[in-house]
Amino acid sequence: MIKDSNRAGFVNQVVDAIRSVVGTTPVGLHEPTFDGNEWKYLKECLDSSYVSSVGKFVDQFEESLANYTGAKYAISVVNGTSALHIALKLAGVQPGDEVLVPALTFVATANAVTYCGATPHFVESEEGTLGIDVGKLRDYLHSIVETNSSQSINKITKKVIRAIVPMHTFGHPSDLDGLNLISREFNIALIEDAAESLGSFYKEKHTGTIGLVGVISFNGNKIITTGGGGAILTNDKSLATHAKHLTTTAKKPHQWDYDHDEIGYNYRMPNINAALGCAQLEQLTDKLKLKRILFSRYQDAFNSINGLTLFKEPVNTKSNYWLQTIVLNRQNEIFRDSILEECHRIGISARPAWKLLNQLEFFRTAPKMNLKCAEALHRRIINLPSSPSIYAKSIA
Ligand SMILES: *Cc1c(COP(=O)(O)O)cnc(C)c1O
Repeated sequence: MIKDSNRAGFVNQVVDAIRSVVGTTPVGLHEPTFDGNEWKYLKECLDSSYVSSVGKFVDQFEESLANYTGAKYAISVVNGTSALHIALKLAGVQPGDEVLVPALTFVATANAVTYCGATPHFVESEEGTLGIDVGKLRDYLHSIVETNSSQSINKITKKVIRAIVPMHTFGHPSDLDGLNLISREFNIALIEDAAESLGSFYKEKHTGTIGLVGVISFNGNKIITTGGGGAILTNDKSLATHAKHLTTTAKKPHQWDYDHDEIGYNYRMPNINAALGCAQLEQLTDKLKLKRILFSRYQDAFNSINGLTLFKEPVNTKSNYWLQTIVLNRQNEIFRDSILEECHRIGISARPAWKLLNQLEFFRTAPKMNLKCAEALHRRIINLPSSPSIYAKSIA
């Protein structure tokens, strides 16, 4: 039995700590800010009348993105979900395939798999990175797949496991060396869902550039935004060419004739969104600095509170700290909802991790491995207000 006084004590301690960082006015989980050349580029875009599917900002945004991430090619698209869809197609995912996806991720990762007619196969997470547990996954694959020189087949479902999509949770890079080894050992294509991790590096390499293809999101709640938007990153020239082709209705280049050589998609990013993106990308380095300062302020605030951990970037990585995260100790997981309720009562938009995807009604029958750690993490995680502007405001 937990005494009510203990409950109130711990809950209040945590909420007070959050409030000491974010202040007393209502605060969102992650709010965009537009402090650079946004108005200037948007005006330029409108004045040029190139607001839609072609224009200089699209080219400039893709070039700046490739430069920043070190990817050889960047292809901008309408959102992160469509980027995932195309990335899976580039990796050869076909109807009837299975794709390994963490159970602890945003629903888009698994939805994109179903857009290809394939089935998500849910895998376990680890506490150290909040990403896929490579050790447990390797043992599991050894027990359920038959691997030949070109592919791995699930012995139970008889389906080909075509790809694996690690997600860099809240901006923190997964164990990419381990995932690369899995990809090679089992002939499974590695696609990185780096939707949350623009500005995060694994051993000096930008997330999303280590697998065959990587995916970024520029939704309004991400570290920088284009309103809505996404990008596909790859170092492979023919994949990049195919990505551009598929996302622009697969139209054969011709001055006036309309001819298409496969079923394509209208997924290209409009020039007006790219204009916003160019201005936002110029501010990424500043935002990353503010996020690290915000992390250290939370660190100071939680320093003296027992019973939880403020999640810190894994070793060998540099995280963008997209969402600041506390992980309650197991004995304190019972306080999660009281903390969330108290936060919302006073206008602090904290939130739990996503419901595990294997528990969503439409994914209930999907194959999965033992998900004990993912389930425990879900009960213990709280995301805290993380806008870079929180710190900027407090010193203004
Ligand atoms: C935001 C996000 C996406 C999807 O991005 P949209 O641009 O919103 O479509 C995909 N995966 C993860 C993990 C995300 O956080």
